[in-house]
Order: sequence, then structure tokens, then C-alpha cells
Amino acid sequence: MSRVYNFSAGPSCLPEEVLKACAAEMMDCNGTGQSVMEMSHRSKAFEPIIENTEKLVRELMNVPDNYKVLFLQGGASTQFAMIPLNLGLKYKKAAYIKTGVWAKKAEAEAKKLGIAVDTLASSEDKGFNYIPRVEKVTGDYDYVHITFNNTIMGTHYEYIPDTGNIPLVADISSCILSEPLDVTKFGLLYAGAQKNLAPAGVTLVIIREDLITENPLPGTPTMLTYKTHSDNGSMFNTPPCYTIYVMGKVLQWIKDNGGAEGMKKRNYEKAEMLYGYLDNNDFYHATAQKGSRSIMNVPFLTKYSTGATDDASVAKEKEINDKFVKEATAAGLVNLKGHRLVGGMRASIYNAMSLDGVKALIAFMKKFAEENK
Ligand SMILES: *Cc1c(COP(=O)(O)O)cnc(C)c1O
Repeated sequence: MSRVYNFSAGPSCLPEEVLKACAAEMMDCNGTGQSVMEMSHRSKAFEPIIENTEKLVRELMNVPDNYKVLFLQGGASTQFAMIPLNLGLKYKKAAYIKTGVWAKKAEAEAKKLGIAVDTLASSEDKGFNYIPRVEKVTGDYDYVHITFNNTIMGTHYEYIPDTGNIPLVADISSCILSEPLDVTKFGLLYAGAQKNLAPAGVTLVIIREDLITENPLPGTPTMLTYKTHSDNGSMFNTPPCYTIYVMGKVLQWIKDNGGAEGMKKRNYEKAEMLYGYLDNNDFYHATAQKGSRSIMNVPFLTKYSTGATDDASVAKEKEINDKFVKEATAAGLVNLKGHRLVGGMRASIYNAMSLDGVKALIAFMKKFAEENK
């Protein structure tokens, strides 16, 4: 067996201990003689599985009792619509902070549903390479929406905006449980699982109970109503059973490795090592500004990324990026191609990425810089 170091932005690497535990239970989970994939979601065998996953979410994230934990489908992208449908009720007005592609998509979906949107701040002027500072928000808003970690641009909030009584909603898809987060500061948190929690197929929603309404915007489908899922323990219809099971294993792995604090320590060690190298060499540089940098997604360019748009410069840059990705892949370091909007390379170093993986990446980068200077 030969495993690679996988720097994919999502779906992304899972802890090997988790993959092994799932493999060991593949044919017979807990003496039931079945795989979790084959179980009825209403069976006695599945009940403790979903209960365990929820219990671990609550424990590791310190979720207070007046919040519901929901396991939904449709990805984080479906939350872009569910949030305005269920929260945009009183003023039909919401505030968004525009920090990248996902933030823009979330905002666009609210507008589509007839919600008046105020963009409080945007970092689009600088290609979204920083997080704007919005300390305090007041106004007649049903909610304020932020994208806490911007997966594509590699930026992250180093503060939480103070929205007073206005519910703060955050997309934490690519940073959930990467470090401790004070849930009580938020009305609603959501995360597609395929970055830091599980394989693709489940979206975790943590919602304060008073935001769960019986009467969302007129015409809201049953499946897009939070109450439907909170009333039915995420089992109104068939939930993504296997993914919820794997999430439980990932959460147990997080717990065994020191919980959110343990992940923070692990992640800062990796991120500081990688940024440290990027900031102190003359071949590569990180694209995100200091003070806004993600510890999960690290986009970087080479010295050939000069911003020049003449054909020769563009071709040279593409050639060097392609070469980097190809040689890295051959060396067992995969999925390093940057997002087309940023270019260059991107190393996603989620919880499951080991320090050894980051060390191997840096060693490769040094060698490649030497050979291509
Ligand atoms: C990946 C991602 C999304 C989209 O998630 P889907 O589950 O594919 O809909 C949204 N927001 C952020 C921050 C992401 O990283």
C-alpha cells in the first residue's frame, strides 16, 4: 500500500486511523452482521451511531443546550438559500461581508429570494487577499453573514464581528474544529463536511433554537425548512447515514488528539512552518495578507507570477506551475494545483494533514526552487 500526501481543498484527506477503523467495520459493524451502508436509518443499529456523532459535535464544540445540531444534505451551497428562507423574515434584509467566491454565492442566493442585501465590506478590490475589519454592526437586519475561512483565497477571520442582537451566521466549511470557536457568538453555523469532518454528503448545521421558525418565507419547500429537520432529529427523510458514521469516527479522532485545542496546536505548527518558508525565500510567496491568513488553505505563487499579462509571461508562469504540480504528484504530493482564480498552487492542510506531510511539501518546494531558479 502506498499512500500519498493529499493537499486537496475538498473532498480532502481523512485521518488514516479513521479509514482503518471504517475498513475494520465494513463487513460487520458492532456485531450486527451488516455494514453501516446497509442499515436502515430507523433501525436500533443506526440509532447509537447518529447519537454518538451528535454527542461528539456538542462536546468538542461546546454547543450549548439551546442550539440544535442538524445533519442535512445539499452541501454548504444549499445553506446559502436555507438561511435567507428561514431567517430573512422580519426586515427581509440582511448584511453580508464579501470576502471571496463562497461569500459572493451566499449573497447572490439571498438576493435571488428577494432579500435586500447590504454588503457591509468587501475585499474584492485586492482580489480578496485579506479580511476587512467590521467591528460592530447595527441596523435593521435579520442576520449578518460571514465566510469565516475562505477556502479559495486562503483567508480567515482573526476576529468575530460584534453584531449585538442581530444573529451572526457563519460558513465554517473549511475551518470547523481547526481551532476552538465560541458557538455562543453565532446564531447559526454551517459546514459542508468534506473539508474537515467527513467524506462529502452531509452538511452540519448548528442553529440557535429561537431561529427555527414554523413559518419560513412563503413557498419554502418542506426540505428547506430547518424545523422539519429539528423536529425529526435529522431523520425526516433518509439522512446520509454512512457519512454521519464516518464523521463520528473523525470526531473521535479529534477527541483522542486533544479536541479543538489539540487541533489548534497541530494546525498552527503546520501553518507556521509553511508560511515561515514562504515568507523567507525568493522563489515562492503566499498570496494572503498577514493578519488574514488561513491555517487551513495556503495558496502560493512563484516568482514567475509577476502579474504581467503579455503572452510570454503568462506562458512562462503556466509552464512553471504545471511543472511544479506534475513533479509534486510524481513525488507523492497530490492536488496542489491552485484554484484558477488565484493561480499558482494551493496546499490545503486540514486537520488530517500531518506535520510530516507539510515537511515533505517544503522539502520538495526547496528542491524545485533550486532546480528552477
Ligand atoms: C467548499 C465550500 C463551500 C461549498 O460546499 P458544498 O458542500 O460543495 O456546497 C461553501 N463554502 C465554503 C467556505 C467552502 O469551502
